[in-house]
Amino acid sequence: MGQGEVKTETLLAEIAQDCTSCGECVRPCAFLQQHGTPAVIATQGDADDNLHKAFGCSLCGLCDAVCPEVLSPSALFLAMRQQATTRGLVDLKPYQPWLTYEKLGSHPLFRRDLIPAGCSTVFFPGCSLPGTRPDAVRGLYRLLQKQDATIGLVLDCCAKISHDLGLVDRFEGIFGTLSRRLQKNGITRILTACPGCSKILRKHGSAFEVTSVYEVLLDGQGSGVKGQKTEALDVNLAPCPLTLDPAVVVIHDPCPARFDYAQQQAVRTLATAAGYSIEEIPSHGAVTRCCGQGGMVEGCVPGTVKKESRLIAAESGGRLLISACGACCETLAPTTPTAHIADLLTGTGSFTTQPVSSLKRWLNRLHLKFARLV
Ligand code: SF4
Ligand code: SF4
Repeated sequence: MGQGEVKTETLLAEIAQDCTSCGECVRPCAFLQQHGTPAVIATQGDADDNLHKAFGCSLCGLCDAVCPEVLSPSALFLAMRQQATTRGLVDLKPYQPWLTYEKLGSHPLFRRDLIPAGCSTVFFPGCSLPGTRPDAVRGLYRLLQKQDATIGLVLDCCAKISHDLGLVDRFEGIFGTLSRRLQKNGITRILTACPGCSKILRKHGSAFEVTSVYEVLLDGQGSGVKGQKTEALDVNLAPCPLTLDPAVVVIHDPCPARFDYAQQQAVRTLATAAGYSIEEIPSHGAVTRCCGQGGMVEGCVPGTVKKESRLIAAESGGRLLISACGACCETLAPTTPTAHIADLLTGTGSFTTQPVSSLKRWLNRLHLKFARLV
């Protein structure tokens, strides 16, 4: 029996035994409403058709946050996905657009390592932000450079798509290449702009200290003076030009950051410093909702993105929504006025109501690959 099978079997047994089917996690989750409580799913074991169900779970972790027994059903569903792909049960055709996006994102054509002399910290903006807001990436990097000119920039993909699809070998191949390259360049600290990258790097990149760029810009710790707070940076906190009501905003915490309290607070402090008053929506912090993109559920349950994004839009009630995730911004923009926290920090104000086209994203990334950034 392989390691993956043992892990799945262990998690199935644990959830089957410890989940009391109290229903707390079922109430907010369409996937569990369809298939039953985690205990109901776990007791059906590792039969092929049961494993396959896990592709309807976005891996958003809301069940983990609300479970009174402190269980992690999302870990079980990820293991079930891994087991299903290992057994060759999954038709990857519906996920091909995501896999191609990931493959191109880590291709030398779009990759970039800007490693100044003496560099041990790099800014890693991920895929969504460079594709949709290249000016914000340049702006954030300039702010970091003002703090410390040895901070580098790495444009690459963390392989979260393969990770979440349960493609273990493919994930390890892409992530391992990235990790080894960074280590070879003497990188020990990574500043992230994407909560998905933060989660992957923290889980798999034990060689690195991982911090969100929002925390670093807030307290000046990008200077490498760890543990010693400085005054807030004199960043150009510009009001987003297209806000409906410039005084009041809501924050959408991305689901990969649901337990990242430091990042959540940094985003709120920065938005407040930019002159906005924050009204919290019910789904925030640890109990935030997935925007609908999580786990590529759309690949097997079409309509998920529309349904889930509308739930968040209904909570925001027309107020400007701010998020620290480029992918969430793109997903939510058509349903509610949306800005990225980087827009406020850099004054780029690239507020969008429609997602950026696929072609434009690649052109934006190519531009960043070759642009003069410092
Ligand atoms: S991870 Fe999210 S989608 Fe999956 S079961 Fe938990 S709450 Fe539902
Ligand atoms: S909240 Fe926890 S105990 Fe309750 S049904 Fe969900 S996993 Fe089971």
